[in-house]
Amino acid sequence: MLTLSCPSCGAEVRFRSHAAVMAVCEYCRTGVLKDPGSVGDLGKIAEVLEDFSPIQLGTAGTWNGRSFTVVGRLQLRYDAGFWNEWYLLFGDGETGWLGDASGQFTITVDRPTDEKPSPFDTLRPGMDVTAAGERWVVADVRTARCTGGQGELPFRVGDGWEAKVADLRSAGRFLTLDYSDGYPPKVYDGTSVTLESLRPQLLRDDDAIRQTAGRYRGKVQALDCPACGSGIKYLPGMTANLVCPSCRAHLDAASPQVAVLRAGEKLAAVRTTLPLGAEAKVGNQKLTVIGVMRRADDEGTEWTEYLLYGPRSGFTWLVETDEGWQRSNAMDSWPARRGDSVLLHNVGYRRLYAYPARVTFAAGAFNWRVAVGDTVQVEEFEKGQERLTAERTDHEITWSRSKPLALDQLKAWFPGVLKDVMPPLRKPAALTDGSRYRGAAKFLIIVAGALNAVPLMVNFGGTIAYTILAGLALYLPAIFLDNNDSQ
Ligand SMILES: [Zn+2]
Ligand SMILES: [Zn+2]
Repeated sequence: MLTLSCPSCGAEVRFRSHAAVMAVCEYCRTGVLKDPGSVGDLGKIAEVLEDFSPIQLGTAGTWNGRSFTVVGRLQLRYDAGFWNEWYLLFGDGETGWLGDASGQFTITVDRPTDEKPSPFDTLRPGMDVTAAGERWVVADVRTARCTGGQGELPFRVGDGWEAKVADLRSAGRFLTLDYSDGYPPKVYDGTSVTLESLRPQLLRDDDAIRQTAGRYRGKVQALDCPACGSGIKYLPGMTANLVCPSCRAHLDAASPQVAVLRAGEKLAAVRTTLPLGAEAKVGNQKLTVIGVMRRADDEGTEWTEYLLYGPRSGFTWLVETDEGWQRSNAMDSWPARRGDSVLLHNVGYRRLYAYPARVTFAAGAFNWRVAVGDTVQVEEFEKGQERLTAERTDHEITWSRSKPLALDQLKAWFPGVLKDVMPPLRKPAALTDGSRYRGAAKFLIIVAGALNAVPLMVNFGGTIAYTILAGLALYLPAIFLDNNDSQ
């Protein structure tokens, strides 16, 4: 370990990592360069914003049998929120990063390669590229601004420092290309992890987080809209983007200091089948409707998407169309394209449609920034009753998987809320007409929402699924059989 005196305040600044080139003085926040011969002043590094993360400098853990300690932190902001990159020092002296984006965690480590990947400006979501000797699909291309730093860091980070990063995907793996220091980019191997799997020690506990933030992550809580005073349910640290259901103001709730991004627009109130705040009982779990969004395609067909959250199941989407309901979840492992089809775990899905989907109404809490008029390009693929849906923006592509959900099952989840809802009318006559067939079938499928970096999206655990199935079996044997068949 190397210890220097802070040139500004004289306090001790410690370097544990050989790869670190600077550290932020914890007393006066001056950026201190490790090399005493370095010229240039990094000045003060901004304080990180409270963002409900349980990780802190000094947190230790284990990944792939390697122990690590968190020695530094970068906080980065992009257009839809911000995330932390925690700088890790492994026991063997190697370094890596632990990304925490609204509770979705990734570990990235150096991947040495001689190959030069495509320049940053040429990358577009959905493109096939070769990097580090393998084929990948570009998943995410973004420029982020550093808004704060702590501890040791492996490059000079000053005011206005920008990160230019692209994530490439192949099934469940990803590769990160970091162009922040120019071309060629640094190449990192990435893996999605859960915080529990790292067996972390010295995390901030809920009390410590509550003391600094007033709330902690992972529990549906309410705040008062700073524009109109109405209560809004949201998830601190997980759904940073809110649209006030009363005044439609757009709010940034990434930190406890909730800011109004945009005043509300005058819009006719939209009544939805499931109201915001409605609670579902699924097995022994409680899910809450925290966001509601209506979208339309280019033919004017509209549908409603509900974002639900449960502490153990994470985020789930329910999609309501004129033809019925679907349940949809984001996919961690992506399908691969094979001509006009996609292949997932060696199962082919046939391409059905491609169309734009535009947001016509949004209210509540979301884990990406949503606004009326936002448009994504949707592509749907089918195999039996299952649909895989890709949604593409200029910055990213996301995949989700959806299945039909019987109205009776939904009514059982939302007792009281849905008792008067009638099953949708089927229109078999429409199937004879070519163009209406497309519309009708699109209704059946509909967009599996699940866009934009939806974190923690997992299917319900098998145990819970069987509890639900067992309950339904008592009085809905047909549904039981259908569901059992599709499990
Ligand atoms: Zn200092
Ligand atoms: Zn409001």
